[in-house]
Amino acid sequence: MFERSLPRHLRGLLTVDEAKSDSSSVTGKVKCTCGCEKIRLRTFGLDDAGEDDWKYGIKVTAECTGCSSTHLLFDQAVHGYDGYVCHSFETKENIVYSPVICEKCGSEVFSAEICTETEDKAQFIEEVVNEYPDEFCEEDYVDAFGWITMNVKCDKCGFEKEIINLELS
Ligand SMILES: [Zn+2]
Ligand SMILES: [Zn+2]
Repeated sequence: MFERSLPRHLRGLLTVDEAKSDSSSVTGKVKCTCGCEKIRLRTFGLDDAGEDDWKYGIKVTAECTGCSSTHLLFDQAVHGYDGYVCHSFETKENIVYSPVICEKCGSEVFSAEICTETEDKAQFIEEVVNEYPDEFCEEDYVDAFGWITMNVKCDKCGFEKEIINLELS
């Protein structure tokens, strides 16, 4: 029943965990459209590779080990309150991603769980839709989420790690 609270780009990619979701946050496990839950993760902005990287926002993609398709799980420049409503980030061409590697066993295959904190719809309408009626409508509140966390679990050794814990407003 919390499926409709999911940010639109994650619909069909997350299996919502009803027990861990409520009206203020929704949690789900990443599952490719082919049914596979084993993914390779690539991130941008989490290591200190480039000193200006913060300007472009943190990005995370998942490559399915079953069918090889790549899914964008999070791009701070376009998802969440700061990127989606405030346009706080710059666009970058030719992004170089880094792989997420298990620090215990060196494997790159993980399962991942994502939690997003849902923006209050009434507040979104009042502060955003009423201010910028040409740019936003009521249903857009799902993409203006205020917080995201992402936890990954190594498929080989079971090591778990939180790779993202970000306030977005
Ligand atoms: Zn797949
Ligand atoms: Zn491992």
